[in-house]
Amino acid sequence: MSESVIIVGAGSAGCVLATRLSENPHRRVLLLEAGRAAPKDSDIPANWVAMFNTGVDWGYHTEPQSGCKMRRLFWPRGRMVGGSGALNAMIYMRGLPSDYDGWEALGCPGWGWRNVLPAFLKSENNVRLGNSPLHSVGGPLTVSDVPYVDPTELLWHAAAQAAGLPANEDFNGPVQEGVGFFQLTVKDGERFGTGKGFLRPVLDRPNLTLTTGVRILRVLIEHGRAVGVAYLLNGELHEARADEVVLCAGAIGSAQLLLLSGIGPADELRAVGVAPVHDLPGVGKNLQDHINIPITFAARERVGIGGMTGQEIDAALAEWDATRTGPMTSNWAAAGGFARSTPDVIEPDLQLYGVISGNRDHARYIAGAPGITLHATLQRPDSNGTLTLRSADPLEYPALDPRYFSSDPDGSDLATMTLGVRLNRKIAASAPLRDVISREITPSAEAQDDEAIADFIRGHCTTLYHPAGTCRMGSDTLAVVDPTLRVRGIEGLRVADASVFPKMVSGNTNAPTIMVAERAAEFIAGG
Ligand SMILES: Cc1cc2nc3c(=O)[nH]c(=O)nc-3n(C[C@H](O)[C@H](O)[C@H](O)COP(=O)(O)OP(=O)(O)OC[C@H]3O[C@@H](n4cnc5c(N)ncnc54)[C@H](O)[C@@H]3O)c2cc1C
Repeated sequence: MSESVIIVGAGSAGCVLATRLSENPHRRVLLLEAGRAAPKDSDIPANWVAMFNTGVDWGYHTEPQSGCKMRRLFWPRGRMVGGSGALNAMIYMRGLPSDYDGWEALGCPGWGWRNVLPAFLKSENNVRLGNSPLHSVGGPLTVSDVPYVDPTELLWHAAAQAAGLPANEDFNGPVQEGVGFFQLTVKDGERFGTGKGFLRPVLDRPNLTLTTGVRILRVLIEHGRAVGVAYLLNGELHEARADEVVLCAGAIGSAQLLLLSGIGPADELRAVGVAPVHDLPGVGKNLQDHINIPITFAARERVGIGGMTGQEIDAALAEWDATRTGPMTSNWAAAGGFARSTPDVIEPDLQLYGVISGNRDHARYIAGAPGITLHATLQRPDSNGTLTLRSADPLEYPALDPRYFSSDPDGSDLATMTLGVRLNRKIAASAPLRDVISREITPSAEAQDDEAIADFIRGHCTTLYHPAGTCRMGSDTLAVVDPTLRVRGIEGLRVADASVFPKMVSGNTNAPTIMVAERAAEFIAGG
């Protein structure tokens, strides 16, 4: 048994792992996080976008994307206790059983649906769905229905059914396809990610230490074994040592730290001035993400958050302060669902969102009128890119190149998203939503044939905030971690976060990341 463990990153995964590992009072756990405590905006479900480009957001940008008109796309990531799970949209989604059976088939024995379901259930405290074969109560992660439903979300829901999509009351149930309301990691009107649900209640354990404001620079490796980490605290260099190190720094941070530690493609490391310690060519490869395309419609009347006056927003905040109720308990993206782009597709390949706000580009473009924005996200992208170091400087952001559309050999990513735009238009044109919509807003409005829609997508697609896969789990030579999450070829070092996904899942990535951390705790406890 590892008697002492250092966990790097108190994000979605790190908070789970620290909580589980410190259940054993004989194990000392040190959890190190670059950010600080999450701010009040993190508690308020409606305010997740308000944290973008602030001190709690790493605020990454991709490399210019040749498939997206050379745009550099904005990639927010959480830098605080709770990580990206403290600024995310709180949607609780596991993906499809076939995703995990697919992982197993890709060389990850023990990661099929039957293996991962117990770990999902272990975390869960489902307020509406209770105990059942697919849900549970009693776990640290409260999962509940969105407390506030905007009237326009009900219009979207009815219109989506009129457009031919079935109603679905549980997207984590036996069938994913259909439309309804996503369940959220919200408890009593407040965000309830792993920082609050898992970590906060156990912070007084004497064997658990959380240190914030600590920038990890690299893993210390001696004779092929990880023995600790080097970090900056208040500008000074420090070291911490332990029996085992687990990287939970996320799909960007964990791969970057392996590379900075000399673990990665040896030639690439030498080229940027990092001395290779272990040639592991897969580190930073397999960067996958969910690509998203929004189209915005102006409304005839004041709808949703975009239609609220300043006084109404102030009143909603006052209500939230007083009782944790009202519009501020909504994430504004709870109406949605899953669809198949064509009848011959077996499982949903598009995720849909009926967002009650007329904005695009992460709310950096706000329509001049109240409106709604319908999003279509590609579930299982073929686009696949890389994360590389720009230099040996650990404080420099890595180069993120998801190669959206340019790495998709047959163009199917763009073709499926084009069908997603058409499906969203069909929903907008269906009763009763069509009665509140006045027009589609430019520039998507002008894009009518497939070629023009594809061109619009290239110019306006965004991330759905789900980078994954840069420390891929598997059994082949390009795999970074083995199926027990050990870094291949280095003793005493694991990775446990969204970076280990071998293939993107069909849905939002927070719950799958938490599942990975639950399993990592089992592996570490098992020796
Ligand atoms: C805006 C946004 C909206 C999203 N919406 C949803 C949603 O609704 N539902 C959903 O399921 N998923 C959503 N996601 C995705 C989901 O939140 C992530 O997949 C998940 O949080 C990833 O967890 P992680 O543990 O891998 O990484 P993170 O949660 O990002 O944790 C990594 C932690 O490591 C720290 N760290 C990194 N590098 C260092 C270093 N060098 N030194 C010290 N600390 C370091 C970071 O500060 C961070 O706290 C969203 C993400 C974002 C950004």
